[in-house]
Amino acid sequence: MTSFSDLGLAPGLLRAVADKGYDTPTLIQARAIPALLDGRDVLASAQTGTGKTAGFVLPLLQKLGAPKGRAPRALVLTPTRELAAQVAQCAREYGRHTGLRMQVIFGGVGEKPQIDGLRTGCDLLVATPGRLLDLEGQGALDLGEVAHFVLDEADRMLDMGFIHAIKRVIRLLPAQRQNAMFSATYSDDIRALAARLLHDPVAIDVAPRNTVAERIEHVAFKLPKEHKRHLLAHLIKDGAWPQVLVFTRTKHGANRLAEQLDGAGIRAAAIHGNKSQSARVRALEDFKAHRITALVATDVASRGLDIKELPHVVNYELPNVPEDYVHRIGRTARAGATGHAVSLVAPDEAGLLRDIEKVLKRAVPYAAAPAFEISAAPPPRREAPAPQHSAHSARAAHPERAAHPGRAAHRGGAAQPPRRGGPARRHGGGGRAGAARRPGSAGRFSGGRKH
Ligand code: AMP
Repeated sequence: MTSFSDLGLAPGLLRAVADKGYDTPTLIQARAIPALLDGRDVLASAQTGTGKTAGFVLPLLQKLGAPKGRAPRALVLTPTRELAAQVAQCAREYGRHTGLRMQVIFGGVGEKPQIDGLRTGCDLLVATPGRLLDLEGQGALDLGEVAHFVLDEADRMLDMGFIHAIKRVIRLLPAQRQNAMFSATYSDDIRALAARLLHDPVAIDVAPRNTVAERIEHVAFKLPKEHKRHLLAHLIKDGAWPQVLVFTRTKHGANRLAEQLDGAGIRAAAIHGNKSQSARVRALEDFKAHRITALVATDVASRGLDIKELPHVVNYELPNVPEDYVHRIGRTARAGATGHAVSLVAPDEAGLLRDIEKVLKRAVPYAAAPAFEISAAPPPRREAPAPQHSAHSARAAHPERAAHPGRAAHRGGAAQPPRRGGPARRHGGGGRAGAARRPGSAGRFSGGRKH
C-alpha cells in the first residue's frame, strides 16, 4: 500500500499529515500528489469526501517551497465562501511547518482585513471569484505571479453562473502555469472548460462518474408534502439521530423548516445564501459542536461543508438537478464512514427520483414509513384539508396517540388532521399534550398561524 512518504512529499508536509492523523493517502491523493509534484496539469473527477483538498494542497505547498515576495504564486478558486474558508484552513494545517503564508478572500464580509492580509504578503491564495475580481480591480491584488492554479468544484462554479468570472480570472493569470481542475460531475460545459484550461492533463477518476459511494444506504419515503416535517421530526427523535443535514430547495423553505423543527423540539438552524457570513459560520459551528441537531441547507450553501462522519443526510425536497443528489449525499460517508441518505418524496417528485436513479445507476428503494405523529401541526385558521389526508390514513396507527386532540399517529404517512377549529387552536395547540415541543413554542401555533 502506498504511504505518504512514497509520494515524494517533503518532511515538513509529512509531519503535518502525521499531525492530522492520516495514515495512508486516499486514492485521489495517491494519484494527484505525484502528478502535481511532477508539474503536470490534472483533471480529477472526485467528489467531496475523497480527500481531494489534501490531494492538491500538499503538492502546491511543496511547489511553493519557501515564502517569497508579496503576490500569491498559487491560487485556488472555490465556488463558496465556506469551501474557501475550509480549503484555506486545510492549507494552514498542512503548511504549518513550511512558513508559507496563506490568505483567503471571499465576499459577504468586510474587504479591509482581506486587503491588509494581502499587503502583508501571501504565497497561496484561496478565493471565491467575485471578491477576487473586485480586489484585483481595485489594485489590491496582483495575479501576475500565479504559477499554480486550481479550480475546485468546477461543476458547482458553473451551476452558480461563474463561467464568465472564471474566464476573466484566467485572463489575469500568466500564460505559463500549472493547472488542476476538480469536479464531482461532468457535463459538456465542464469538458469545454477543461479543454480550455488544461494542457495534456493527467486524468484521475477516483469515483466512477456520477456514482455514489457504495457504503451509503439510500432510502426513500413517499408521502404528501405536508407530512414531511412530521416524518422528519419522528425519524430524528425516534432514531436518536445525533446530527442530520437536511436539504431544501429554497432559502425560504430552509428557514421555515428550521423553525418547524425547532418547534418540534429539535434544535435546528438554517444555512443559505441570504444569511450573513457570521450567521452561517455560527450555524456550522453549532452543528459541528452538537449544539444543534439539524442543519437545514440549500444546495448552494451546502457546498464546502466539511462535517466529519455526518451520519444522516435528508433530502427534504428532491433536487431539480439529479447531480445535486450526488453532491448532497457526498456530505455523508466521508473518508471511510458509513452514511444514510433519506429522501422524502412527495407524489409530484416521483419523476425527480427516477432521474436521480438514472444518474446513480442504481435504485433508491421506497420503504414503508414508520408510524409517526402529526404532533405540532398548526391548526388551519378556517378549513382543515381533511380529504387529502384521509387517503393516507388507511393503515394502522397508534390509537392511544391519536386520542390526543390535535395529535394523531400515522403509519406509512397516514395522518389525521386536527378537527377544524378544534381544541388545538383553543388550547394553544392540542398537540402540546405530550408533544415534544419546547415551552414557548406552543404560542406560535395557538393563533393558528400558517407555517
Ligand atoms: P475532502 O474531500 O478534501 O473534503 O476531505 C474529506 C475529509 O477527509 C476531511 O475531513 C479530511 O480531513 C479527511 N482526510 C483527507 N485525507 C485523509 C487521509 N489520507 N486519511 C484520513 N482522512 C483524510
